[in-house]
Amino acid sequence: MKELAIGTLGSHSALNIFKGAKEEGFRTVCICKKENAIIYKKFPLVDELIIVKDFNELLTESIQKKLRNLNVILIPHGSFTAYLSTEELVNNLFVPMFGNRELLHWEANRVKQAEWLRQAGLRLPKTIKKPDEIDRLVIVKLPGAKGGRGYFLANSPSSFRKKFNEMVSRGLLTSGDLDRVHLQEYSLGVNVYPHYFSSIMKDDVEFLGVDRRYESAVDCIGKIPASQQMEIEINPTYTIVGNSPLVLRESLLPELIRMGENVHKKAKTLAPPGIIGPFCLETVITDDLKIYTFEISARIVAGTNIGIGTSPYAYLRYGENMYMGRRIALEIKEAQRKDSLEMILA
Ligand code: AMP
Ligand code: AMP
Repeated sequence: MKELAIGTLGSHSALNIFKGAKEEGFRTVCICKKENAIIYKKFPLVDELIIVKDFNELLTESIQKKLRNLNVILIPHGSFTAYLSTEELVNNLFVPMFGNRELLHWEANRVKQAEWLRQAGLRLPKTIKKPDEIDRLVIVKLPGAKGGRGYFLANSPSSFRKKFNEMVSRGLLTSGDLDRVHLQEYSLGVNVYPHYFSSIMKDDVEFLGVDRRYESAVDCIGKIPASQQMEIEINPTYTIVGNSPLVLRESLLPELIRMGENVHKKAKTLAPPGIIGPFCLETVITDDLKIYTFEISARIVAGTNIGIGTSPYAYLRYGENMYMGRRIALEIKEAQRKDSLEMILA
């Protein structure tokens, strides 16, 4: 108990997590691919580097044994769900993990996720059942967070078919994806990603930051004149490249804060004790100031990297030097002090 280490996969928000762990006095363990080790050598935040060929080696008995011997608490982030399946994370990973593993099932399934958010009272973009029913601008999505790669827009059944085939020929989709697409009403507005921390130790949902995303190719389209856009029949994709910090109009905060609280409250009934630690809502805010939520991530999001050091909202709450990675480590330390680690680990 006195020699706990914090570990995660070397990617996504690992630097954020390791810096926070170090600042709270934990040892750190990074499971990482050889080609990425340079990051964790440049920034001296890792005590133990475990090199793997593929992230799914995390599921092998030898790596898990190593992690248990190092007293590791794993912090899940986007690369866990992107490269390992929910079932594997729930059933085959025998290393203590910070968070609520049961909620992964609610998060991974679009239908269940929408049910959760609706029951929490959030406003969601409409779901269209099948391509033949497209009667408005929709965004076409594939299961799993692949950084928006392969997403496209369509506003009729025929434009759907044309663009789908185009995506297949560009190699961004395969014809088998046709049965797996999710069609969602496109909410016209700006993207806002609020970051929350659900503290089991303090029984509180904290509001710690907001980011916006920088997505290729959609964020570069405005740089070329409309006439050229028409000529090349550009079809925007949403591959995430980075994030930037955002401060919001203050009058939007009450609703966003309540949304975070309600999502956690609902999660408590779906999978007690609800969300443990960081989560993020992915929203679009329209020009009549309606907030549409199109997704939840019930774990640390990479957008919180904008807050390493501090963010305006973390500053308002904690003063200097609080950010998601450190907030996680602080919660673990608090649970350790109260001899209540079992309340925050799964
Ligand atoms: P990576 O290990 O970089 O492939 O990231 C794993 C998953 O997390 C990817 O599928 C991305 O969609 C998502 N992701 C990574 N970085 C970011 C970011 N800065 N903002 C939002 N999502 C991200
Ligand atoms: P996701 O993979 O769900 O995070 O979505 C990737 C990107 O697609 C987002 O960052 C948004 O720019 C865009 N997006 C997703 N859903 C919607 C929606 N319903 N309306 C407008 N834009 C959306």
